[in-house]
Amino acid sequence: MADTSLNPFVRAQQSFKEAVETLGLEAAVYEILKQPMRTFEVAVPFVRDDGTLQVFTGYRVQHNDALGPTKGGLRFHPDVNVDEVKALAMWMTVKCALLGLPYGGGKGGIACDVDQLSEGEIERLSREYIRAVNLVIGPDKDIPAPDVSTNPQIMAWMVDEYSRIRGENTFGLITGKPLVIGGSRGRVEATGHGLVFATRQLATEMGIDFARARIAVQGFGNVGSVAATIAYRMGASVVAVSDKDGGLYNASGIDIDDLVEYKRVNRNLAGYAKAEPITNAQLLELPVDILFPAALENQITADNALRIQARIVGEGANGPTTPEADAILFDKGVMVVPDVLGNAGGVTVSYFEWVQNQSRFYWSEEEVNHRLEEYMSRAMADMHRMHERFGVTLRKAAYLVATDRLAQAMRVRGWLK
Ligand code: NAD
Repeated sequence: MADTSLNPFVRAQQSFKEAVETLGLEAAVYEILKQPMRTFEVAVPFVRDDGTLQVFTGYRVQHNDALGPTKGGLRFHPDVNVDEVKALAMWMTVKCALLGLPYGGGKGGIACDVDQLSEGEIERLSREYIRAVNLVIGPDKDIPAPDVSTNPQIMAWMVDEYSRIRGENTFGLITGKPLVIGGSRGRVEATGHGLVFATRQLATEMGIDFARARIAVQGFGNVGSVAATIAYRMGASVVAVSDKDGGLYNASGIDIDDLVEYKRVNRNLAGYAKAEPITNAQLLELPVDILFPAALENQITADNALRIQARIVGEGANGPTTPEADAILFDKGVMVVPDVLGNAGGVTVSYFEWVQNQSRFYWSEEEVNHRLEEYMSRAMADMHRMHERFGVTLRKAAYLVATDRLAQAMRVRGWLK
């Protein structure tokens, strides 16, 4: 069966529409939320190492700022396109509202393949991107962060470029920075940490002992490798992991600390001798208790959802499950920790980082993690209340919480008349 719902922007619109209808809200709520407030497409020219000029296309989308300045990551990936960035910005709006953060949703990116660029080229590209969007971002306007193929070093170049343009250090511009220039303790691990925290809580409610669970993780980047490491250290058996070149499987469990070290030295997972090679498609269908899709969108579709054997899908990636697949998983009794909650640990600790930058007072890692768990727990409880009240999936319940908050903010601000 062909999946008709692969366009993430259309999916994000549909989710808001359903939430507005279920809550019986004013039609104006959907009219405002169905598209971003602002969409910028910019040309990003930069000088290659051989002296030639190349121009990539960059984007920054600000979806809705009813609750505060927009916030969201920057993705460097060949598939980046305007509809994807719009959808990711809309999902950020939902995430921030669900977590009770004083932010709206934004997102950005550049359509490029970082594997084809040297470090110097990535630095020049990153600085030029900031020059292209500097007038529309800022600590009280729109605050970027890392996403796929961007990292603390890239954030450091970007905050430096912005600070040079403005003539003053502006660390609150961007989050996910290195610690030494105003990064937060616990930020690098925050998304994986939040994902494990939320999934463990759901597993406990379902009578699954997380510390004995068998887990497969798709994507071994910032989110997937941290989630795998934390789960492994909690005693869970991580039987499979993968990256864009393929996966590894060992039915007795993989030593994740050893594999992280292998990847650090070899730069990818291929050739690791203590596990069998498998494909990304095979990984998704393994007999496990918990599956963490932590790579890209549209991985679990109408084509493979029936073959998913996990009892819980903990979404680390944004949009890894299509709506048609969601319905199939629901019918099979598979519980899904929706992305808007599952990966919200990142933006939550980004918020903590921004608070620390604004107050110039820095917290311990324990304090960060304690507050992260507090925010995640509160959001889970709010989501569960809507799940029980309306008898809908956890994803729909998360949208109900967020849409209700957004509607309240837009109503008191006088946007709905
Ligand atoms: P990353 O670049 O650090 O890692 C991405 C991983 O996915 C890599 O291991 C890569 O090899 C793998 N990958 C890429 N294409 C793949 C494919 N087609 N099949 C299988 N694996 C593939 O990125 P990240 O920051 O870990 O982000 C992963 C997901 O989590 C994205 O959807 C992102 O939007 C989401 N996310 C990230 C954060 C964060 O704090 N980093 C926060 C919220 C959501």
